[in-house]
Amino acid sequence: MKILVLNSGSSSVKYALFEDDKQISNGLVERVEDHLATIKEILGNIGKVDAVGHRVVHGGEKYKNSVIIDSDAIETIRDLISLAPLHNGANLAGIEAVAKLYPDITQVAVFDTSFHQSIPDFAYTYAIPISFYEQHKIRKYGFHGTSHKYITNEAGKFLNIAEQNLNLITFHLGNGDSVCAVKNGKSFDTSMGFTPLEGLVMGSRCGDIDPQILIYLAKQKGLSVDEIDKILNKESGLKGICGSSDMRDIEAKAQNGDKLALLALDIFAYRAKKYLGSYAVALGRVDGIVFAGGIGENSPLIRMKILQDLEILGIEIDEQKNQVRSREPFEINTENSKIKILVIHTDEEKEIAKQTMRLAGDN
Ligand code: AMP
Repeated sequence: MKILVLNSGSSSVKYALFEDDKQISNGLVERVEDHLATIKEILGNIGKVDAVGHRVVHGGEKYKNSVIIDSDAIETIRDLISLAPLHNGANLAGIEAVAKLYPDITQVAVFDTSFHQSIPDFAYTYAIPISFYEQHKIRKYGFHGTSHKYITNEAGKFLNIAEQNLNLITFHLGNGDSVCAVKNGKSFDTSMGFTPLEGLVMGSRCGDIDPQILIYLAKQKGLSVDEIDKILNKESGLKGICGSSDMRDIEAKAQNGDKLALLALDIFAYRAKKYLGSYAVALGRVDGIVFAGGIGENSPLIRMKILQDLEILGIEIDEQKNQVRSREPFEINTENSKIKILVIHTDEEKEIAKQTMRLAGDN
């Protein structure tokens, strides 16, 4: 079965072609102005496919799983544009382009939020007036779900533990960063919230801050809503602290003694460590800690900074094993560590292809 995976952004379209579970090609078109023309060209180049799987950022509370796209799904994705203005509109443009070009092709939506729909109400409800949830659906949704689900599956296989018994803390560390507490194979809590701004320190996003700071900036400093939005999403995080959002650059600067780069590394790792501690307590038992994403998979320094001095949790990282580089899953804990520590290459496209194949195959 040939599956095309599409990730339609506001100005780019990423695609990957799968033949059963093997990726056979991929590509990225940038500076996209017209999704229809771009997707026509992609489909023209790769030829006939059996189904198309789309990454859709927001599935709201409706979608706990991936779905075959019909008119009802299209309307729901459209309604959710207000919750993910930067993403759902572009995702929908990709879906509508394929529907126009090939009306008979099966299309599947795979949502970043679905995996986290198992989070219990006491973990997803914010302590603001309940009417904001009831009327405006303001709650924690969580993102990166496709990645957390994929690495949970891979960790289960590697550790040989059935998913219904598997407790993990999964870190997806890249330009965007999130951590998930996985209980019995399902998401129990995650660090991103109503939007992907909450939680860990990210490339240019602040993660958790005192919300009163926003009010201070508006009232005392006279900043507009748009200015605050830009500061928190584009000018904060690692970039805000040391001027660079790229972890490789920051590590290089830190090696040369740059004080702000060193501070950025410490802040990044300390925030992650605090989440690790709180999720260990929330889960009660942890079988494994998993690192994925550009930073999680490639930065022994960050993994070490997050995991060092955690004997209190029975966590011991092996310095030598931590230096290994591999696209295959590998273990970096000592023999004595009570909790396994794994590095797993995440593959969101493969997960989308897998889900698309499952649903399109049943169709
Ligand atoms: P992603 O969004 O998953 O593509 O991850 C991008 C982030 O991974 C950037 O901050 C990169 O600097 C970081 N990254 C990639 N390779 C390395 C590496 N070898 N060491 C440290 N960070 C890396």
